[in-house]
Amino acid sequence: MASPLFIFYSHHFLDHDTGPGHPEQPDRLRACVDALEKCDFSDQLEWKYPRYATEEELSWIHTVQHIEGIKRTCESGDGLLDVDTPVCSLSYEIAKQSAGAWLAGVEEILRGNSALILSRPPGHHAEINKSMGFCLFSNAALSAVYALKQNEINRVCIFDWDVHHGNGTQDIIQNIPDIYYVSIHQFPFYPGTGSQIETGEHNNVLNIPIPAGTSSQDYRNLFDKSVIPFILKATPDMLIISAGFDAHRRDPLADINLETEDFAYMTRSLQSIHPHLLIGLEGGYDLQALGECCKAVAGVLIDSTKAKMGKHA
Ligand SMILES: [Zn+2]
Repeated sequence: MASPLFIFYSHHFLDHDTGPGHPEQPDRLRACVDALEKCDFSDQLEWKYPRYATEEELSWIHTVQHIEGIKRTCESGDGLLDVDTPVCSLSYEIAKQSAGAWLAGVEEILRGNSALILSRPPGHHAEINKSMGFCLFSNAALSAVYALKQNEINRVCIFDWDVHHGNGTQDIIQNIPDIYYVSIHQFPFYPGTGSQIETGEHNNVLNIPIPAGTSSQDYRNLFDKSVIPFILKATPDMLIISAGFDAHRRDPLADINLETEDFAYMTRSLQSIHPHLLIGLEGGYDLQALGECCKAVAGVLIDSTKAKMGKHA
């Protein structure tokens, strides 16, 4: 029996209420869960209830004002952290669990497994001192900083394939020399950052802006010729994927033309660099594409688990 793929998910993530008509809605996670429960390898998935990040852990990457500000806004009931980022009274606790799911994912990687994080709210737009773009806490940056605190991890690389630039992740890690960040994103586009001249204080950031309408083939070429060499040069001990699925051609918010298979392709390629991946959900707003892409990515992680077990059998 092959070891399972670990999925970190909590039903509480559905209770982060962004209001009617908001694209970052609970149905996004329902679509992911539904696709994985119905797929033909569902018996090889092990669902784990994630822990909550502590305020101390959040303070590694965010100011106390940021953390307290979100807490206060949520305690006062429904509110807006920025024009795009509504919260409800439960959102602060849920965001701590969303961040905790990514931390638990790091712990799973350290045990020699891969992990898929299905959580919301997402994180890559949350800066050191600012919530924006549906994001409260920067889950990917937090998990990278947490990984670096482990003895066996000296370098971490975050690859952000969400269609938007992860301004929050970049803001937090750009002056940390042992964390590398590479992003392919539609440009010019929300949030406006992510030009090629933004390279981090230690040349630890690579931004690859692409125009609206970019084809699957052109995207793959950039991935092969720019993303993979950057990661290979960084020689990371851990590879974290900010996995938004909004570069899919079906996505209603963006204009890039990836197919579902492209996400499986990238996952396979990244696994050839590092066998154990931490893949965490960021954006992605077409429910059908979300379900298909989660299944495709999980399928790659499951296949490699089997291959690994086969080799050692
Ligand atoms: Zn996005």
